[in-house]
Amino acid sequence: MRTPLVAGNWKMNKTAAQARQLVQEMLPGLQAVTTVERVICPPFPAIWAVSELLQGTGIGLGAQNLYWEASGAFTGEVSPGMVKEFCQYVILGHSERRAYFGETDVTVNRKVKAALANELIPIVCVGETLTENEAGQTAAVIERQLRLGLQELSPEQGQKLVIAYEPVWAIGTGRAASGTGANAVVADCIRPTLASLFGEAVAQSIRILYGGSVTAANAAEFFSQPEIDGALVGGASLKPAEFVPITQAAAR
Ligand code: PEP
Repeated sequence: MRTPLVAGNWKMNKTAAQARQLVQEMLPGLQAVTTVERVICPPFPAIWAVSELLQGTGIGLGAQNLYWEASGAFTGEVSPGMVKEFCQYVILGHSERRAYFGETDVTVNRKVKAALANELIPIVCVGETLTENEAGQTAAVIERQLRLGLQELSPEQGQKLVIAYEPVWAIGTGRAASGTGANAVVADCIRPTLASLFGEAVAQSIRILYGGSVTAANAAEFFSQPEIDGALVGGASLKPAEFVPITQAAAR
């Protein structure tokens, strides 16, 4: 059995003060959903404030990025140890980081290894663009992202991963994939690739989330799919009236 996981990616939204207020609004609803792993990923300056509010609540905290070096002259970057002080999870390889900040499969791989070495759970994002989708390249793109992004990891390390399938054309567009379509990508490409990297048993144990315009209205469609183990939620994770019901749908 794979425990469902719902993570909220706040992206570059909310000051520390606003983050505190948003967490306070969501907290009672999120705490009631005990059978789902719930994770909030605020921007770095809000991490400390949110971590204080989440202590003892059972709700996890994640960062949206990290750098692979432990310390040094890397202006503007944040090390795994700095993240680990407050967080249990880290989103890596998000398509916005790949598109706007030069992240590649090679840098994703370095970050995944650094996160694991610091006992952080990486939520590794993969997914095809609209052009790649329309060219019939979805499986090839995702397989490449997984093979390069996860290269040189042992099965023991593989077991600790969470994968998020996020078709780029569905992120922030209001145009979600269909439940069956997303399930097919996971069943036909993502889990088989994980099995070839880490073995079938490990592949079966890895949580694979769907992300891309998930809302309270469509969440159940994804969670009813046998291969989808939760969601990475962007825009809707900033709205308690959306995010709490999404976690409730994952519990059903
Ligand atoms: C995301 O940023 O990971 C995401 C899925 O965004 P949205 O839910 O807004 O499409």
